[in-house]
Amino acid sequence: MQSDSLSISSTGAGAILSLVRSGQATTRAALMAVTGLSRSTIGQRLDRLIQAGYLQVISTTISTGGRPVEALQVNPDYGLLLLAAVGASGFRVAVTDFCGRMLEVHSETCAITAGPDVILSRIRTLFLQLLQRTPQGKSALRGIGIGLPGPIDFVHKAIVQPPIMQGWDNFSVPGFFAADFPVPVLMDNDVNLMALGEHRFSYPAEQDLLYLKLGTGIGSGIVMSGKIQRGALGAAGDLGHWFLPDWRSQQPLRTCRCGKQGCLEAYSSGWALCDEWQVESVRMLMLQAEQPALRQRLQAAGVHQGEALAMAINLLNPARVIVGGELLNEPLLASLRETVYLRSGALSTRTLHIDQGPLGENAGLYGGVALVTDYLLSPALVDAICLR
Ligand SMILES: [Zn+2]
Repeated sequence: MQSDSLSISSTGAGAILSLVRSGQATTRAALMAVTGLSRSTIGQRLDRLIQAGYLQVISTTISTGGRPVEALQVNPDYGLLLLAAVGASGFRVAVTDFCGRMLEVHSETCAITAGPDVILSRIRTLFLQLLQRTPQGKSALRGIGIGLPGPIDFVHKAIVQPPIMQGWDNFSVPGFFAADFPVPVLMDNDVNLMALGEHRFSYPAEQDLLYLKLGTGIGSGIVMSGKIQRGALGAAGDLGHWFLPDWRSQQPLRTCRCGKQGCLEAYSSGWALCDEWQVESVRMLMLQAEQPALRQRLQAAGVHQGEALAMAINLLNPARVIVGGELLNEPLLASLRETVYLRSGALSTRTLHIDQGPLGENAGLYGGVALVTDYLLSPALVDAICLR
């Protein structure tokens, strides 16, 4: 493995870049103070980072309020990124600069059950078109980030036993893109990336947050101490398949699409409600959301989802819960919130925020930016490139 041969120096160029990127130290003076290195050593490291294209010098007055000082920032023109956020019933693709500024975003509906060849071929076509329309073109591409609605095995870089994704089990997504795009391809679970996106781009100061996605299925992404928590095999946060039968109904346990009985999803997910209302997609279902019967049903789903969320909050004590997904509307969110405050511990809800995320439907794309740039700007990789 290439990474085994890389060593990380705590005062090398890669570490300096991390300090600038995180905002801990963005001037030469601040870098000297934080690292204890001399002005000339910091100067050498910065020269290499600027020469390699990672950093740029800008003029700012923010820190002093007086005369302009030179500050450092990650160079948005270091290269382009391609992102895809694939959900159960559609996907979004984007091309961004290196700091995550969206240059173009495109979305399509598409069932995940169409299989990897159909969906990834379409995404490849769109990726090539997106790159063609940038002034920099394909040669500026640095990395690709992809979110998929199933558990991801990080060691083997494959999707493992996805309950709703026939044909995707152990399919190599990076392998699919390798021939057309000779750059690193990273992937993660779709909701993990939504959580990461909101954490980095909306709430960087909040280290512990939970993203609850209410769409065709139900899933959550967990960020604790600023890091995505995937669990041993990538199954952490899969609360749609918690055993949580609707105790109000006297009917026998409902069978879930994962094969088990009594899952939260079997009662209160988008697909369960689509079955009940006999419509094809959550988007179509929500066109009728003002009808009293459906409004009431969505509120009942909110209570049910709130019960699961309350358990997650009691376990993890996040500072913030972000809710998103096509099934979400105001009546549902109101009953979900009410249930959480009723069922969670007093301490875990004392300062808790439960809101829709500022990034909206693009949260997963921003999470992809964070995933790819974390890899490309990892100190070991940066040190290796700067020492070349
Ligand atoms: Zn299930």
